[in-house]
Amino acid sequence: METTPERNKQLEIDDQKYIWHPFTQMQDYESEKPLIIEEGNGCILKDTYGNEYIDGVSSLWTNVHGHRKEKLDDALRKQTNKIAHSTLLGLSNIPAVECAKKLIEIAPEGLTKVFYSDNGSTAVEIALKMAFQYHQQADSGDPNKTRFISLINAYHGDTIGSVSVGGIDLFHATYKSLLFPSIHVESPYCYRCPFGRSQGSCDFECFKDMEEKVEAHHHEVAAFIIEPLVQGAAGILVQPPGYLKKVRELCTKHDIIMIADEVAVGFGKTGKMFACEHEQITPDIMAVAKGISGGYMPLAATLASEEIYRGFLDEYEEFKTFFHGHTYTGNPLACAVSLANMEVFEEEHILENLQGKIELLTNRLQPITSLAHVGEIRQRGFMVGIELVADKESKEPYPLKERIGHKVIMEARNHGVIIRPLGDVIILMPPLSISIDELTRLCDVVYKSIRVVTEE
Ligand SMILES: *Cc1c(COP(=O)(O)O)cnc(C)c1O
Repeated sequence: METTPERNKQLEIDDQKYIWHPFTQMQDYESEKPLIIEEGNGCILKDTYGNEYIDGVSSLWTNVHGHRKEKLDDALRKQTNKIAHSTLLGLSNIPAVECAKKLIEIAPEGLTKVFYSDNGSTAVEIALKMAFQYHQQADSGDPNKTRFISLINAYHGDTIGSVSVGGIDLFHATYKSLLFPSIHVESPYCYRCPFGRSQGSCDFECFKDMEEKVEAHHHEVAAFIIEPLVQGAAGILVQPPGYLKKVRELCTKHDIIMIADEVAVGFGKTGKMFACEHEQITPDIMAVAKGISGGYMPLAATLASEEIYRGFLDEYEEFKTFFHGHTYTGNPLACAVSLANMEVFEEEHILENLQGKIELLTNRLQPITSLAHVGEIRQRGFMVGIELVADKESKEPYPLKERIGHKVIMEARNHGVIIRPLGDVIILMPPLSISIDELTRLCDVVYKSIRVVTEE
């Protein structure tokens, strides 16, 4: 179809007629004009009318090198000339082998095996089942260990298992009766400290709460799952230094499997390849997705230590096999582009070059902090959460009905920036490849949009 006003109109009608959008109140969606993306290049998205926007959230935290990255385009094209799909159930394929080898090479030391799937939720689901089954059957396991510890405000995905270890009531409360109960520890959310303390003058009550829950329940706990360093979907809640290390120590002490959900934080977004590196720890199981294929193909992986893997080895009739696998597991197209994605990190020194941009971003966020309705800005690397409040003094949130976050991102859209809020927290997570100019423009537009919506 040609780019005509008629075509564009028809696409908008058909979008509203046929698509049920994720995490979207469709009643609202049906009353607004849809924005339909047609092309992307670098950090710029282009809609059906040819309007351009900065992709301020890397197309939902995935396109770490931007769009139309030549090396990734080529990898995909080259692989289509060989084969697009072949199963990993009982067979193997070249890109799956090479991608797994590379993943282990860059992952925290001690993770040795890659179990593929195709989205973050399944990567977590697999981690939970692996941990559970390990304790049921491994020589060094303990069949009484059947439960999971997770954090309040945690987000681990939308399937039933990953929702069971989730801790965001807005997303998860509806399904409560369907879920297995998990043990929740308080979230280190310093701006709204659950213990009523303030940052810098507390006694790390959140550490104590975590420690107490572990000490009280360790005999029945199979695994502790955590988003290392940053709780992303909760609104970029940054953990105090040492928190992650403490989790690792407690897990080791009590034979609890530590699961790191690096789906959001992985692939450079915190400034290092994986967030666990900031505290020099290795989890027993690690889930990765989002940035793994540079936003090109649905791919995810659950990485396991040798010890976990060995717990599944035995004679066939012992039934210690890990009975799990998705149809598209190890898809060659996805793995080929993922391998190229990881090579770009090395060849273009992405993480070295990122450090200066992180600093620039910090500086550019400074003026936003002083706006009348900005409660707090949280930043870790290229992950930013700007929490808007009705009253800065009392930290009182806006009434839900105001949809203040939504209003801000719609205003930003008018100025050529696409971002997506989490409630009243404005999220920025630009591609790591963003230019200094684009980064500056992104922050300027966010400043103006917050100001216009909250002050005028
Ligand atoms: C996005 C996310 C998931 C779920 O990934 P999907 O690919 O959307 O299923 C899981 N964990 C974390 C930390 C995430 O940010």
